[in-house]
Amino acid sequence: MSITTRFAPSPNGFLHLGHAAAALAAWRRARQAGGRFLLRIEDIDPTRCREEFTDAILEDLAWLGLDWDGEPRVQSRHLPEYRAALDTLAGRGLLYPCFCTRAAIAREIAAAPAAPHGPDGPLYPGTCRALSAAERAARLAAGAPYALRLDMARAAAEAGTLRWHEEAEGWCAAEPARFGDVVLGRKEVPASYHLCVTHDDAAQGVSLVTRGEDLKPATALHRLLQALFGWPAPRYAHHPLLTGPDGRRLAKRDGAASLRGMREAGMRPEAVRALAGG
Ligand code: GLU
Repeated sequence: MSITTRFAPSPNGFLHLGHAAAALAAWRRARQAGGRFLLRIEDIDPTRCREEFTDAILEDLAWLGLDWDGEPRVQSRHLPEYRAALDTLAGRGLLYPCFCTRAAIAREIAAAPAAPHGPDGPLYPGTCRALSAAERAARLAAGAPYALRLDMARAAAEAGTLRWHEEAEGWCAAEPARFGDVVLGRKEVPASYHLCVTHDDAAQGVSLVTRGEDLKPATALHRLLQALFGWPAPRYAHHPLLTGPDGRRLAKRDGAASLRGMREAGMRPEAVRALAGG
């Protein structure tokens, strides 16, 4: 069976060795199987992403010797599709507007005797889920900024029991309820990473998702969205993250050696590929 893999970087900095390893892993899997390797630019957050980094990503990957099939999919050019997906969930009563500021949520959590925690930290206490229809309408009419949250209890009940196939482990139980009422859209960021990534993996026919193990827990949420929309579930292969000399994972914020920097220092692409595991 032919496979389709993808590399889906966010253009909020230059690619580093960890990205090279992730891109190579996806590329190799596709090429070895005679399948497709796709590139997707996850630039949905205009507050963090810059076009110059998108250009740099394409250039750095080509320099490494990677080729991809078709045009890269650039998420910011597909906003109406994500909007439509959110509208579908809203139409089924699975979303609600949340007017809470981050500070208000933090205060409420601090005041709670035992605030439940999920994989991403304390769970949203559900304040705006409990608003009356009239109160909600009044705030929307007043133009108050809001985020769109998933009503997790309803969504999880609709989706039923979920699991995903993890290559090295077999079937894993997906428990999205541990994340609580996640945000799927905002005023300044039209749709969340979780929504866009699952939407696009389905839209692009991705059959094998290879990515860093930091995103493994989020797979439970991705399975939930796939189930709610009736999208096919790809198989998953999460790989360990590359670490720096200090043992911590490489990250853009630490100025981890960028591919660009290595190239400017005179390194050959083959040498960088060897450092990135092939
Ligand atoms: N855009 C995400 C990142 O750069 C990766 C998304 C994914 O592979 O699912 O961290």
